[in-house]
Amino acid sequence: MECIFCKIVNGEIHSNKIYENDNFFSILDINQKVDGHSLVISKQHFVTLLDIPEDLSSELIDCIKKTAEIIIRGKNAEGFNIVNNNSESAGQLVNHFHVHLFPRKKNDNANIFS
Ligand code: AMP
Ligand code: ZN
Repeated sequence: MECIFCKIVNGEIHSNKIYENDNFFSILDINQKVDGHSLVISKQHFVTLLDIPEDLSSELIDCIKKTAEIIIRGKNAEGFNIVNNNSESAGQLVNHFHVHLFPRKKNDNANIFS
């Protein structure tokens, strides 16, 4: 299996999970665009949001919300952005479903789309 996020799921690559539920987990992004930049990742190998079964929607939202709360508290942030790239033309580099979470503070000058 060549997928880097599947390797994280099956333990081939070590990771420190921020939060997890049955179908999703979160980790810090290896390339921190802002301090606390995190990824919410599906445990199954789905490629884009369109592949996520409807019955996993609430677990996805749960993982995003719990991760946001933990990161906001940990980084003294005030808010956050979520970004989800679907397909190469939309900037998706890892073809395993994930949502970026960027904690934000007033006047932080973060450039989350670069
Ligand atoms: P995307 O362009 O939405 O596919 O973003 C993929 C993200 O995965 C990038 O922000 C990478 O820095 C991040 N990434 C790639 N490999 C790892 C890894 N082993 N652990 C954590 N984040 C990773
Ligand atoms: Zn995968």
